[in-house]
Amino acid sequence: MSVLPQPRPGVLAIEPYVPGKSSAPGVAKIYKLSSNETPLGPSPNAIAAYRAVADHLQDYPEGSAKDLREAIGRAFGLDPDRIVCGAGSDDLLNLLARAYLADGDEAIHTTHGFLVYPIATLGTGAKSVVAPEKNFTADVDAILKAVTAKTKVVFLANPNNPTGTYLPFDEVKRLQKGLPQHVLLVLDAAYAEYVRRNDYEAGIELVATSDNVVMTRTFSKIYGLAALRLGWMYGPAHVVDSVNRVRGPFNVNSAAMMAGIAAIADSKHQERAREHNTRWLAWLLDEIAKLGLKVTPSVANFVLIHFPDAKGRTAKDADAFLTKRGLILRYVSAYKLPNALRLTVGSEEANRLVVAALAEFMGEKASI
Ligand SMILES: *Cc1c(COP(=O)(O)O)cnc(C)c1O
Repeated sequence: MSVLPQPRPGVLAIEPYVPGKSSAPGVAKIYKLSSNETPLGPSPNAIAAYRAVADHLQDYPEGSAKDLREAIGRAFGLDPDRIVCGAGSDDLLNLLARAYLADGDEAIHTTHGFLVYPIATLGTGAKSVVAPEKNFTADVDAILKAVTAKTKVVFLANPNNPTGTYLPFDEVKRLQKGLPQHVLLVLDAAYAEYVRRNDYEAGIELVATSDNVVMTRTFSKIYGLAALRLGWMYGPAHVVDSVNRVRGPFNVNSAAMMAGIAAIADSKHQERAREHNTRWLAWLLDEIAKLGLKVTPSVANFVLIHFPDAKGRTAKDADAFLTKRGLILRYVSAYKLPNALRLTVGSEEANRLVVAALAEFMGEKASI
């Protein structure tokens, strides 16, 4: 009998992450609305900075991402020494899990929370604990109730993906106050730039005023650099020190760093992306509701559409119907939302095509 090498406990309990679809067989023109990418693409300055790195591919990146941390520090008014950059915020979420979780520990996330949290948690041998949501929104009381002596980390996406809902700053503060001081609160603010609510705060203020809060951010969404894998976190000095110890010494590549520096400086491009989103998010929420479909109110760059339970009109049916027309949305059953689709706010053309196709889907079926 052969004895195979065995992964650590927990690894085989991980449900592998399945990214959003990006193709529709036999369809000429595809509109990818499945991964919350920006329809405007990155700043042209970021593309130029990326290309310039091609002349220096033999050189290792600067390992601490110093110039990028300084650029982020300038843009957000933060101390660069309290920033760590990563290969996407996924990298940082995994590094935080690796630094703070061990066999037998527990990390909490909410029912429809981002799937990277249980993946990062289980890989350390810790247990993933799910706190119920209310109206597709994180519930502070439920999170606090889920805390045990073994809890080490709470992961909260604010706004959350795939629901698009958010917790106001008061609620996030109440969560932090209610947690034991040794529990690390990770605020994942991947969509912060899109939020237009005056009761929202991404996490900067809470990190500045406490010792157990970390905020993660990404260049994959409004900055349009998902392909390069770039994210950053801002945290207390002691957390930054721990994450830097487990971080790969060259975890951010030079092209990502240079493109990121250029992207963050182009505030006009960001403003265009934000305005496009504000306009079309409201339009999509309205138009889709008019079709008789339930849509969860969103403050991000995507909407969660709930389908009827009726045969022929389910999310699965809608997904097949839309895919045939080159409209690729995200099927979110892995997020415990088996009868919903997530739609990323796209270009004007894509948004109009989706609403027209959904109208056809609902109307066609209704007239049978
Ligand atoms: C898209 C997304 C991210 C970003 O991940 P990257 O690894 O930076 O591309 C992080 N958190 C949530 C909730 C997201 O939806």
